[in-house]
Amino acid sequence: MKRDFDVVIVGGAMAGAGVAALLATNPGTAALRIALLEPKPVTAPAAGEALELRVSALSRASQRLLELTGAWPAVLARGAAAYQRMTVWEEHATPDGPGALHFDAAELGEPDLGHIVENRTVQAALMERAMAAGVVLLRAGFASFETSDDAVRVATTDGRDYGAALVIGADGSESAVRLQSGIATRGWDYEQRAVVAHLSCQQAHRHTAWQRFLDTGPLALLPLGDGRVSLVWSTTPALADELIRSSASDFSARVTAASAAVLGRLEVTTARASFALRLVHARRYAAARVALIGDAAHTVHPLAGQGINLAFMDAAALVDVIGAALKAGDDPGELAVLRRYERWRKAETLPAIALLDGIKRLFYGGDAMQSRLRRAGLDLVESSGPIKRLLMQRALGVAGEVPASVRRPPS
Ligand SMILES: Cc1cc2nc3c(=O)[nH]c(=O)nc-3n(C[C@H](O)[C@H](O)[C@H](O)COP(=O)(O)OP(=O)(O)OC[C@H]3O[C@@H](n4cnc5c(N)ncnc54)[C@H](O)[C@@H]3O)c2cc1C
Repeated sequence: MKRDFDVVIVGGAMAGAGVAALLATNPGTAALRIALLEPKPVTAPAAGEALELRVSALSRASQRLLELTGAWPAVLARGAAAYQRMTVWEEHATPDGPGALHFDAAELGEPDLGHIVENRTVQAALMERAMAAGVVLLRAGFASFETSDDAVRVATTDGRDYGAALVIGADGSESAVRLQSGIATRGWDYEQRAVVAHLSCQQAHRHTAWQRFLDTGPLALLPLGDGRVSLVWSTTPALADELIRSSASDFSARVTAASAAVLGRLEVTTARASFALRLVHARRYAAARVALIGDAAHTVHPLAGQGINLAFMDAAALVDVIGAALKAGDDPGELAVLRRYERWRKAETLPAIALLDGIKRLFYGGDAMQSRLRRAGLDLVESSGPIKRLLMQRALGVAGEVPASVRRPPS
């Protein structure tokens, strides 16, 4: 079968644009011919345009991917905000009393714990770097694929088809690539919705990410560069509906109360949106000539802000594995090569998914006994140096096996 490209990436949101940019700029894989299929237009926000609702907490390791691909300056220029601290507390505790957990970058000798970035800016900056490095953007959707021994043929919604060695499914939690590959998923609906909005706050956010575990789900306030905070309130579908439909003043008052007025009075400054939350975990991340990354492989609860960080580490691990295969003279689309990627990433993502799911369950429900247990657990972590350090290193993305393509250069 003729190969028009070496790699066809399906989906050009953050994960797809990230793997495209890293493949095209990493010395071990830069010679590959890469196509990126994304039907939706991708444009960077104009200077002065209001900050969008979808923002993410990016780990240090993800930042490294953006730095190495050359996308980071554009993300910084849009006001990416570093946060140095994180405070987590339980509904029946106070943020500065027992039952609260405090993370501080200084404890690890780090300048910050991560950055709050605008999703659209990250996507557009990575896309721009990918194209500058020779990635071909195809403005069409993925329709189907067919594999043979030596290649995969990808058909697109505009009636074309392209031969390649490998197709990467970065097409989100409803991944058509995953479906076509016959890869089953496990998971469930969390029966929660995440309500998002940006709010101004009476007191300075002190570059701290605040998270209060309410009995009905976690409420997070992420510090933005302009002094506001970004709300991610995961709650019951009924309350989410009410919050979306309430007046601006009622909504502001409810968020202020639900956050225990930790930043004083909060005032909503944007529209509101809500997202259904569910766990989707692909049983396999690879099949013959197919690899899955990002939400296509694992869609997780946003409570620890891990989704895109896991996706970027998938991208980096895949780039490492493909680079090693090319160096050894192997075909990067062969299942034996892709299984290496799958084993590596499953070893990293399975504990993360189990931990997120466990936290979500432990913190859900208003039983007094459960609540005491939660406070005791948070106290235990707060007073245990090693566990706390490990959790902070996990949040920074510097624990576990960090792919060479995004590892820090030796200082
Ligand atoms: C409320 C909320 C808050 C969150 N906060 C954080 C956070 O703070 N930190 C964090 O790390 N994560 C966070 N996440 C998770 C994070 O947003 C996701 O994990 C991440 O955006 C997934 O990116 P992706 O590129 O894998 O998939 P998606 O963003 O779903 O992108 C899929 C892409 O594929 C394209 N596509 C789909 N079908 C096709 C097709 N047939 N052909 C071609 N293209 C196709 C789509 O157009 C889209 O561009 C949050 C999630 C939610 C809901």
